[in-house]
Amino acid sequence: MEYFDYVIVGGGLAGVSGVKGVRDRDSEGSILLVSEENYLPYNRPPLSKELLIGRKELEDVFVEDEDFYEDQGVETKLGSKITEVHPDEKTALSDSGESYEYGKLLLATGGHPRRLEVAGGDLEGILYYRNLEDYKRLRAEMESGESAIVIGGGFIGSEIAAALNLNHIDVSMVFPDKHLLEKVFPEELSRAVEDDYRERGIEIYSEELPEKITKPEDEYSLTTEEGSTVTGDLVIAGIGMKPGVDLCEEGEFDVFEGIEVDEHLETSCPDVYAAGDNAYFPYAALEDCVRVEHWDNAIKQGKLAGENMAGAEKPYDYIPYFYSDLFDFGFEALGDVDSHLDTFIDWKEEGKKGVVYYLSEEGKVRGVLLLGVWGKKKQARKLVERKECFRKEDLVNAI
Ligand SMILES: Cc1cc2nc3c(=O)[nH]c(=O)nc-3n(C[C@H](O)[C@H](O)[C@H](O)COP(=O)(O)OP(=O)(O)OC[C@H]3O[C@@H](n4cnc5c(N)ncnc54)[C@H](O)[C@@H]3O)c2cc1C
Repeated sequence: MEYFDYVIVGGGLAGVSGVKGVRDRDSEGSILLVSEENYLPYNRPPLSKELLIGRKELEDVFVEDEDFYEDQGVETKLGSKITEVHPDEKTALSDSGESYEYGKLLLATGGHPRRLEVAGGDLEGILYYRNLEDYKRLRAEMESGESAIVIGGGFIGSEIAAALNLNHIDVSMVFPDKHLLEKVFPEELSRAVEDDYRERGIEIYSEELPEKITKPEDEYSLTTEEGSTVTGDLVIAGIGMKPGVDLCEEGEFDVFEGIEVDEHLETSCPDVYAAGDNAYFPYAALEDCVRVEHWDNAIKQGKLAGENMAGAEKPYDYIPYFYSDLFDFGFEALGDVDSHLDTFIDWKEEGKKGVVYYLSEEGKVRGVLLLGVWGKKKQARKLVERKECFRKEDLVNAI
């Protein structure tokens, strides 16, 4: 059995950031990075945006090149899946029979796309969009496909729909919510974005749930519980993800909506840390425990987990942000941006640019969404951190 001071399971953003965190404090310790995918860690956001619209090339998405891992003395095992972790023995086993002993272990396993549990939901060719292979397949299919069904009205669905439309593919979107992106956007903004989608020719089937998918000949046909039939050459589903908790045996690890970690990102098993999309962590500024699926969070948590594995003992007190681009709507958001909260929009340019505040019952700013307003994340973070009560009128021009 090979021994490593640090074993990192998962070669995504949190994984590579974990390497950087370790190396900030420990230049000597041996590091193994194991990833199920055949690629070195890459950024996922461009898969549904820049790569699809030709603003980035494949080689631009990798976080670091091969030399980085060599220079940092990291052993990488790609195309290898860790199937078991035994925290009592401090060992991890892979699907190809290797076993590793670790000093510290980082679970940076991200998550798996949710799948449609309807007749035909497992038809070959339906893309449950998550990784670089999915992007490559979509790219290839876009060459001949003229129409697409996009299932899901969240960010990934909306971004892919926009990118396909820009590639002159006829898009139909099917989702159960009343409006596009309504879990995050207040209704006024959801409607504005949805109107823009319709004006650009995207067919919207909102408040409709897929019931059955068939592919009688070359084309897919999706029927909804509400009785609509939608057809397309491609089907892409972006219906959320499940956190990668598979390695966490019940009774050993605490798991709730993700792998539970403390403020140092350590799991309930000593010397095992978790970071990124899989981690359910105490979010200091919100005084709540959450799991978030944000690029920035994966980077910052991975880095901090790495530092802590190397002895830093620093708390995670950062407020991560996420971003998206939907045609001309570009935004950044941080904190708790749940549209169920009371919201207030301070428009800078009606319907186009503005700041959305998400308020608690007492008027504390829980989250901020900056729509077309750039360079203001610092101010937004401060408002969330202040935990002060505001009247809505006091928030006009607060950012
Ligand atoms: C298409 C797409 C677009 C996105 N766009 C945005 C955006 O615009 N803005 C934003 O903030 N966020 C965006 N995100 C979310 C962001 O990319 C994620 O939050 C981030 O990638 C999470 O990083 P991670 O390292 O935690 O997990 P992942 O990136 O999922 O990496 C986990 C890795 O671990 C591997 N793995 C899992 N289990 C094992 C195992 N047992 N053994 C070995 N390897 C394993 C997986 O194969 C994977 O390679 C997007 C995500 C997707 C899919």
